[in-house]
Amino acid sequence: MERTYIKDLRQKIGQQVCLQGHLQTLRDQKKMQFLILRDTTGLAQVAFYKPNDAQMAERISGLTAESALTITGTVADNPVVKLGGLEVQLETLTVENLAASPLPIDPFAETLPAIDIRLDWRYLDLRRAQNLLLFQAQTLAEQAMREYWLQNRFIEIHSPKIMGTPSESGAELFTIDYFDRKAYLAQSPQFYKQMAMAAGFDRVFEIGPVFRADPSFTSRHMTEFTGVDMEMSWIESHEDVMAFQERWLQYTYQRVKDELGDAIAQLFGREIVVPSVPFPRIPMAEAVRILKERGYQLPPEKKGDIDPGGERELGAYVKETFGHDFVFVTDWPIAVRPFYHMRHPDNPGLTRSYDLLASGLEITTGAQREHRVAVLEKQALEKGLHLEPIQFYLDFFRYGCPPHGGFGLGLSRLLMVMLGINNIRETVYLFRGPTRLNP
Ligand code: ATP
Repeated sequence: MERTYIKDLRQKIGQQVCLQGHLQTLRDQKKMQFLILRDTTGLAQVAFYKPNDAQMAERISGLTAESALTITGTVADNPVVKLGGLEVQLETLTVENLAASPLPIDPFAETLPAIDIRLDWRYLDLRRAQNLLLFQAQTLAEQAMREYWLQNRFIEIHSPKIMGTPSESGAELFTIDYFDRKAYLAQSPQFYKQMAMAAGFDRVFEIGPVFRADPSFTSRHMTEFTGVDMEMSWIESHEDVMAFQERWLQYTYQRVKDELGDAIAQLFGREIVVPSVPFPRIPMAEAVRILKERGYQLPPEKKGDIDPGGERELGAYVKETFGHDFVFVTDWPIAVRPFYHMRHPDNPGLTRSYDLLASGLEITTGAQREHRVAVLEKQALEKGLHLEPIQFYLDFFRYGCPPHGGFGLGLSRLLMVMLGINNIRETVYLFRGPTRLNP
């Protein structure tokens, strides 16, 4: 018999159906047994009247929580049932996989165990409806991003993650054995998405893994994460990239709100607010001044960068002043930007770059890139880089490369701000950190 999803049961009243899912709870009463079955579309009550078949009743009594079951039965309208006023009267039961008992963690406990214990048993932790919804939202967000890109003539690329040369800095770099030499795991698709500009692709995007050998234990860093990257040609400045990104994000939020807004409100207690455009823009120097004015002391060792506390404070300022959750912080000093960021012609100490903060969390870095090879070489040397290892990259800009720019966004960070989750470990399928490689 074809499987029926729980959300479609109402259309099947009086009919025989086949349900497949996990046994969330079993209420074994004197005469009746109630099985609460869960599939990806919801919960259903399955009922069995014990005197009908003592053997079946005994099999049901032996079921353990979270066992994987196939059930057939007849759908009955029953207004007293809390789960949709419906009940499935059980006829056959197939135990596909009896869950060992007790469960190492109870994903439905009122007080959940600490995150590290939940990550050890991530496949059980993921069984909660919130987690399912989170990944449905992620799927939809990625789909919306793609839709918007495709409507705007973008091409998808998949760049290699094994590299002969680091694409960012020597720090945070994973080295791997590659036959008789060393190779590196990509810290971003930066060089290769720029290569697509040299290839005349005009506009590209990539959603793929990014590796950072960052030994820190923060609530927003992972050693492997999914990067959402794009690059576009024929721009005049980083303003064109920001103007694209804010509309692309607005479209993404709108799609998530339209399709999953109600479910998110119910399970996360949070309204998806579609951001208005344009997002506020604050030059970095101004941001520093604002922070100072608000009594926020930037740590001196950050040398022109904003620390996480500063990001939060700036987020609060933007919310108070503009009623907005997003802000582009623009024109960062060269000291805290990579060599390939283009500099302002009238102020060479500043780059044509930006960070996008959402609710006080950095989710994106973007910039116009330097496409004039002589300038690029000079900037690389100034940063203390050797030209020889990046020669292949510099060559991209020798044979007709248009002006271009782009950005990189952390997918799990976007989920954090969209759903109001404080720890990135909760918004990624499987967390990778300095001390976590399993499961
Ligand atoms: P941060 O200052 O927060 O460490 P970054 O400046 O190193 O980030 P970029 O190199 O600009 O970040 O990467 C682009 C985006 O990728 C960031 O804005 C963020 O959303 C995401 N990102 C960067 N590093 C990580 C990480 N270790 N874990 C998860 N996401 C990350």
